[in-house]
Amino acid sequence: MIIFLMFVFGALIGSFLNVVALRLPSEERFWRGRSHCVFCNKLLHWFELIPLVSFLWQGGKCRDCKKNISWRYILIEIATGGLFSGTYYFLSGQSLFYFWPTLICYLIIISVLEIIFLIDLKEGIIFDLLIWPFIVLILVFWILSGANWLIFLLSGLGCAAFFGAQYLLSRGKWIGAGDIGLGFLLGAWLGFPAILVALFFSYVVGALIGLVLIILKKKSWASSLPFAVFLIPGAFFALFWGHRIVSWYIGLVGRF
Ligand SMILES: [Zn+2]
Repeated sequence: MIIFLMFVFGALIGSFLNVVALRLPSEERFWRGRSHCVFCNKLLHWFELIPLVSFLWQGGKCRDCKKNISWRYILIEIATGGLFSGTYYFLSGQSLFYFWPTLICYLIIISVLEIIFLIDLKEGIIFDLLIWPFIVLILVFWILSGANWLIFLLSGLGCAAFFGAQYLLSRGKWIGAGDIGLGFLLGAWLGFPAILVALFFSYVVGALIGLVLIILKKKSWASSLPFAVFLIPGAFFALFWGHRIVSWYIGLVGRF
């Protein structure tokens, strides 16, 4: 039951994240002004703003101009619901004293990562405002929670250095400057060795999707893809399955 409520809560937050990601790059003041249709600017009624339900009920179209509302919105609502309920389930073994602060911190980081994902997907940029305050947040959280925070700090620095080297070698062609900060944030959040799982996942999925796009002739070998779009799903994958994959791998290597 609580898992279901977490899904509903996540879907509501997801619908808010969509708005933030849409308005942040355009400098539209997102804390003011009611939601409107992106095509005809018509203000939306409350019943057009219910996550998932409104989209399905209206058949994915604006009630006025009948233009198709992007699938991106409903996918993000579902994904956020899934991530929130998944995180709740994932942390549920912890003691209550540790559970709530960790849950709140993780849900904030997940939400910010989703905004970074959406903006990078559409605009190909990563805002520093969405990176550095949250690196501070996660490091303060590790220190307060009594975790071995040095490991998380070093994982963050290591991941940032790894991207920084690629940035310098390729003169910014393989990877953007914004990915360096994102690498720091993800390393400091996931820690070692889970960050390696996130990196591995991102490179494999990124290479596969890149190859498919080249075969479909949507991209050429020279064009680059926004890397955060692979890195962030990779981080979510590593959050839930990272430790299991690492222990499986160690077991596999140990046999030789
Ligand atoms: Zn409209």
